[in-house]
Amino acid sequence: MSAVLISLGANLPGAWGDPIRTLRQAIAELQTRHVAVEHASALYETEPLGGRRQSHYLNAVVLAKVNVAPAALLRTLKQLERRAGRRLGTHWGPRPLDLDIVDFGGRRYGWPAGVRHRGRLVLPHPEAHRRAFVLIPLLDVAPDWRHPVLGVSAAALLARLRSQRRGVRRVLDSGWILCDEAGS
Ligand code: ATP
Ligand code: CA
Ligand code: CA
Repeated sequence: MSAVLISLGANLPGAWGDPIRTLRQAIAELQTRHVAVEHASALYETEPLGGRRQSHYLNAVVLAKVNVAPAALLRTLKQLERRAGRRLGTHWGPRPLDLDIVDFGGRRYGWPAGVRHRGRLVLPHPEAHRRAFVLIPLLDVAPDWRHPVLGVSAAALLARLRSQRRGVRRVLDSGWILCDEAGS
């Protein structure tokens, strides 16, 4: 079994409903696909990066146990994104669901990740250490996590992102995955 950290993001309604419902459904679907979710972070609202006009994102991170290989996990995540209504060509653009493998049991693949090739897995995720919307929820579920390549703790990585941190707002505590209609 490997401990994995998966980040979830959504900023458009899709086949599973609005972003919060989509994230809840994604977690429920993961559980049926041999991804045993042990902890979910609080739910955060994030101002989109990259200047493009888009609606806010909802972001979270889950800690899970899996006994499949990283490539198989990525295939499962991509399948769920499609089922949630994501279409191709939405890299960095608005999408109903984005699921990234932030860390897979501390494995290191494809680093340094200067040039990225579509479909080639990079572990840990090549941008995670630069993103407050990943590191803040990650700290909820894995406060002692250290970046497997950089050897720097999540808290120290986050401390470098002072201006981004202000764009990430906690909107619901970790119980958000259990609430139904009433909460959304
Ligand atoms: P970013 O990856 O910068 O967060 P994005 O999530 O919008 O942007 P996608 O279009 O979802 O990007 O994915 C681009 C490619 O990244 C996919 O082809 C996927 O195979 C690849 N990839 C490489 N490493 C990972 C990883 N650790 N987790 C998820 N996808 C990855
Ligand atoms: Ca992403
Ligand atoms: Ca992605």
